[in-house]
Amino acid sequence: MFRQLLTASAVIPRSFVRSSVIRQSSSAAANDEPLFDMENPFEKEKQQCLLCRLKITPDYKNVKLLSQFQSPYTGRIYGKHITGLCETQQKLVEAEIMKAQAAGLMATYLKEPCYLKDPKLFDTDNPIRPHRF
Ligand SMILES: [Zn+2]
Repeated sequence: MFRQLLTASAVIPRSFVRSSVIRQSSSAAANDEPLFDMENPFEKEKQQCLLCRLKITPDYKNVKLLSQFQSPYTGRIYGKHITGLCETQQKLVEAEIMKAQAAGLMATYLKEPCYLKDPKLFDTDNPIRPHRF
């Protein structure tokens, strides 16, 4: 606890730290009870991909969703660096698109024209990670 106070002294004013240290030494010197329960304010928020955040499991029958991961020009599936999906979701999406194409629900060399005006889930011109293409 004392060590935590020392590291947090950059944020907390010195007078407060000094008074809390005195209080700790006088009242709770023997037992190691924390003065206050507080979550780490510097902890970063956990990053989650689009499908994990909305708890969506891609399915081969959900062609409207799957076609948003397909290029309208070549019909190719967008890579992870463009979609921003995590590894597992990207693999699932790719597998489900292949399944839908094998079942004849989705086109292979173009995007279905009825889905061309759908809102975009990600910016295809500005990939999340830089790449060599
Ligand atoms: Zn994810």
